[in-house]
Amino acid sequence: MRYTVALTGGIGSGKSTVTRAFADLGIDVVDADVIARQVVEPGQPALQDIASKFGPSVLNADGSLNRASLRQKIFSSPADKQWLNNLLHPLIHQQTRRQLAEAQSLWCLWVVPLLVENNLHKLADRVLVVDVDPEIQLTRTMARDHISREEATRILAAQASRDARLAVADDIIDNSGDPAAVIPLVAKLNQRYCELATAAKQD
Ligand code: ADP
Repeated sequence: MRYTVALTGGIGSGKSTVTRAFADLGIDVVDADVIARQVVEPGQPALQDIASKFGPSVLNADGSLNRASLRQKIFSSPADKQWLNNLLHPLIHQQTRRQLAEAQSLWCLWVVPLLVENNLHKLADRVLVVDVDPEIQLTRTMARDHISREEATRILAAQASRDARLAVADDIIDNSGDPAAVIPLVAKLNQRYCELATAAKQD
């Protein structure tokens, strides 16, 4: 398994921005959100299972998953939500391990927005948190997603707190300044992670 650094942060903190900076340095990226979508793509057995359980209304006309419909169905049923989690979590886990094993760079960046919420931090060799003040999270999320302050506040409140994320951090990137300011921080962290990955290989 590649030496794995998990990257997390709240909505609007700058995960995508920081991820791009690492990718520009040639670091392979495994994205938890992408994997969560891949396991329910048309043709995947899990999508068939979901359609059999909840009926054809959870599918769009083109055969893809209608997420809003599925969300509505499990919203009122904890048992159905559990059923779905039991189906998807092992598949997501398996696919994550596969992609991390296939990574070619010396170490691999595993982007997991809900790392803390889903208690996944122990699976990584190291945890990097992108951190900004919640007020900055709000303003950047509102601007990016064209949503109201109320909506952005609601999303933030449903996520882990800033303190809970910082409690599992090995490293922290402060992204409250200029976007260009993260570039040298990312370069320095990359150097450190290359050293750690090399040392781990020799163990
Ligand atoms: P996340 O992936 O954590 O939700 P993004 O990387 O998409 O966050 O950043 C949220 C928004 O803030 C985006 O529109 C992005 O372009 C912008 N942004 C990111 N970093 C900065 C920064 N340092 N200064 C100003 N805007 C930023």
